[in-house]
Amino acid sequence: MNPGLQDWLTNQSQALRDQNLYKVPKILETPAGGRVRMDGKEVVNMSSNNYLGLANHPQVRQAALDAIEKWGVGAGAVRWIGGTMKVHDELEQRLARFKNVEAVLAFTSGFTANSGCIPAVLTDKDVVISDELNHASIIDGVRLSPASYRKSEGWVYAHKDMDGLEDCLRRAGGFEKRMIITDGVFSMDGDIAPLPDIVALAEKYGAFVMVDDAHASGVLGKNGAGTTSHFDLYGRVDIQLGTLSKALGVVGGYIAGSAPLKDWLVQRGRPYLFSTALPPMVAAALIAALDVMENDPKPMQRLWENTAAWKGMLQEAGFDTMGSETPITPVYVGDEGEAQRTERALWDEGVYALSIVFPTVARGKARIRTMPSAAHTQADLEAALEAFVRVRERLMGSR
Ligand SMILES: *Cc1c(COP(=O)(O)O)cnc(C)c1O
Repeated sequence: MNPGLQDWLTNQSQALRDQNLYKVPKILETPAGGRVRMDGKEVVNMSSNNYLGLANHPQVRQAALDAIEKWGVGAGAVRWIGGTMKVHDELEQRLARFKNVEAVLAFTSGFTANSGCIPAVLTDKDVVISDELNHASIIDGVRLSPASYRKSEGWVYAHKDMDGLEDCLRRAGGFEKRMIITDGVFSMDGDIAPLPDIVALAEKYGAFVMVDDAHASGVLGKNGAGTTSHFDLYGRVDIQLGTLSKALGVVGGYIAGSAPLKDWLVQRGRPYLFSTALPPMVAAALIAALDVMENDPKPMQRLWENTAAWKGMLQEAGFDTMGSETPITPVYVGDEGEAQRTERALWDEGVYALSIVFPTVARGKARIRTMPSAAHTQADLEAALEAFVRVRERLMGSR
């Protein structure tokens, strides 16, 4: 082992510890759900993206088991080299219908859908105009493209600032294509992008729009079809990204749009071309998850009832939920060290709710990010609130 590398790694991690930015993942010992056991302790889990409780839904589990019997556990190859099974094709057709678009291409994650799609549709004659709070996987996808995109060159607008976006568009006339890219639901703040305004500005200035609906999938729109459905913007958003890993409960991502878009991504989407297909049991489980979403309104109703209840409880108790509009409910703390102490104290009180600190959010904007789901009971939420109140008293008393 190279001592230079090993010393560098150790020092880097120590520097993060010193700044309260060091992460230690806990180990889940039960299936995802509202109450779980982690690191040997029973806790209310307020940090899961399993919005609809589909990660351990009986119908979805059974579909995966049946698919193992029928297809085995692996696709055996990259999609275009013989890894596309009937079940992948069926999943994409189902997703296209669900999203009300011409075509869908599935990837092995939302992250790779971003890094596959964004560089594939851009050249060095193009520009990408981004919201400053876009998700890391959007940023990485954009960095892989030869287009202009840098903040220092003025192509990143302040969060949801439509005047800022219009200013970018006014200056972008010289580029061949102009792409506006935004989270549909912002992953650390839980607010919704002003998509109707973004689409109207795109149309005014001849730009196209890509929306990353990872946290809107299964949460907003008809049966959870996302922000395009939520705002009734069908046919006006060129590229929609969805994840299959959060509300849909399994893993994967997809790009939804026109048939020419899918055709092109099959030719040039590098993770599609160079990374093995989703396991068939995953595709089958996802088809079952879509069946539940399209036929059983209860999980989404429960998700939103719990969301309203949880936000109401927090606000009534005087916590700042930072303008969140969706199940993602940040509880503002500010200081990184304070956020990490809060997380540890909540854990002691039987609540797993992760602190989110720099670099995931800006320095000094640390928060505890909570996510109610259909898998929580009223009692779970009440227990979580009591823990938040007790922790606030305890930490304030110790100052
Ligand atoms: C989680 C997330 C992704 C990545 O999705 P995965 O399927 O987990 O890889 C992409 N974009 C946003 C906005 C996300 O929140």
